[in-house]
Amino acid sequence: MLTQAQQLLKQYYGYSSFRPGQEQIIRSILAGRDTLGIMPTGGGKSICYQVPALLHQGLTLVVSPLISLMKDQVDALGALGIPAASINSTLTGTEVGRTLRDAENGRLRLLYVAPERLESEWFRERVRELNVAMVAVDEAHCVSQWGHDFRPSYTAIAPFLRSLPKRPIVAAFTATATPEVKHDIAGLLELERPEIVITGFARDNLGLHILRGENKRDYITRYVQAHTHQPGIIYAATRREVEDVYEMLRKKGVAVGKYHAGMTDDERSAAQEAFLYDDIRVMVATNAFGMGIDKSNVRYVIHHNMPKNMEAYYQEAGRAGRDGEPGECILLFGAQDILTQKFFIEQSQLSPERKSNEYKKLQSMVDFCYTPKCLRSAILQYFGDVEGEEPCGTCSSCKDDRETVDITIEAQKIFSCIKRMRERFGISTVAGVLKGSAAKKILEYRFNELPTYGVMRNQTEKEIADLINVLVAEGYLGLSEGQYPTVKLQEGALEVLQGRVSVYQKVSRKPLAVSVGDDGLFERLRLLRKELASRDKVPPYIVFSDSTLREMSEQ
Ligand code: ADP
Ligand code: MG
Ligand code: ZN
Repeated sequence: MLTQAQQLLKQYYGYSSFRPGQEQIIRSILAGRDTLGIMPTGGGKSICYQVPALLHQGLTLVVSPLISLMKDQVDALGALGIPAASINSTLTGTEVGRTLRDAENGRLRLLYVAPERLESEWFRERVRELNVAMVAVDEAHCVSQWGHDFRPSYTAIAPFLRSLPKRPIVAAFTATATPEVKHDIAGLLELERPEIVITGFARDNLGLHILRGENKRDYITRYVQAHTHQPGIIYAATRREVEDVYEMLRKKGVAVGKYHAGMTDDERSAAQEAFLYDDIRVMVATNAFGMGIDKSNVRYVIHHNMPKNMEAYYQEAGRAGRDGEPGECILLFGAQDILTQKFFIEQSQLSPERKSNEYKKLQSMVDFCYTPKCLRSAILQYFGDVEGEEPCGTCSSCKDDRETVDITIEAQKIFSCIKRMRERFGISTVAGVLKGSAAKKILEYRFNELPTYGVMRNQTEKEIADLINVLVAEGYLGLSEGQYPTVKLQEGALEVLQGRVSVYQKVSRKPLAVSVGDDGLFERLRLLRKELASRDKVPPYIVFSDSTLREMSEQ
């Protein structure tokens, strides 16, 4: 059977081999077992049910959540010479009737249906007349309230299956691998002793980058302008931000489109089509954009904001490079993003239990944004994929030879000082108070009586001011407009003061200084080499200190 499947893969799709998980899933389905296939976005789930559909005697019914998704698939199958059709709400009664007759007469291999159809008794009645060999449930996480795209009509699938005269093989597919979702899919779809196949989550062609402290708008403008011929997606957290980024790029003459839930259905499908057919290069969108798109040549995905959790992040980032060619995934992190996501959770109608679960997932996302670990390894670890522990060598962590240092204590001192100074002063005055400076202004306001006066006296005022600037760039602090900007605490700073959030900074590894003393340069260099070898990353440079240079020139 499997060799036959391989032949079909070559014959219809032109691919010479299955990807690892595909083979296992197809083998399980062909053996007549219910199967749950978990693969990352772009992993190739469609082929896992399309190839068995060609081998089965009867019809394969595919439950798919979006009309656009069905349309794309049916068109693609048609182009490959595989007879397929879909039944959805855009069809007239006559068209539905004709499609069902085609299915009855064995003229179709695959029939795509929206889950809502399965609720209709009339439809169930008609399907009972058909010889359904397999039901494939695409985007199966939609059945779970724990998933990120819960669709109540997915719960109609199990009763529908029970209503059939002969139970077909059921195969479910998703990119979401969390235990709750897995459990729900198997339970709510009433899979019978399913074979669960989880394939590797590694996407070796993706370059993952997390950038903190960037000016997001400037970065996006530069990036998009440097990649004008490549299709890309920019995800933003809110409609408002989508509109802003869209306008910004449009004014720069970029062929840009937008997509969010505030637009009409027609506007959205027009934007999606334009992107699919390369009439626009860049799509700026909320997370409403995605599940339905299957554009294989997206070269980059930029997250203007941190997404709500790792599942959402990897699914969205994974839309780059589905064709296996390189894709760049860039997340522009700002501390404000944490508050936005918290706000969304707080505002949601979720039960307290669900809310606390969402908070936990958000925390994993935040941790990921701060991890000094290889990002690819961190993702694989999160998804419980034990392989691929090797650092990728291409992500922003692997390429970064800086160290992450915890600056929470310093940040707390700074925030508390600003608070006590009633947020009415600029960076240099705040730095002066923390340093314990006796400048006239400081004494005049009697800031020398504050408990935070001089608490950072071991650092220079310049160092303190630099730290404050870092905290501004990271969004913990804001600067007022005007000639003499004053530093204000942002909400993120309060979380830090309450000890609920830690603050990290990336700093260059201190260059090692060598000085030539009586024991000679070679002995020093030998020790230096030893020390370099003991560090996990060797700095690319060795800096000679001033005194060394002086000594060297004297010799
Ligand atoms: P998913 O539904 O898992 O996100 P798709 O089924 O849309 O992924 O497949 C993603 C891409 O991978 C498609 O362009 C598909 O043609 C391609 N693909 C799938 N299987 C193979 C294979 N065995 N060899 C090469 N390309 C494949
Ligand atoms: Mg898919
Ligand atoms: Zn890496």
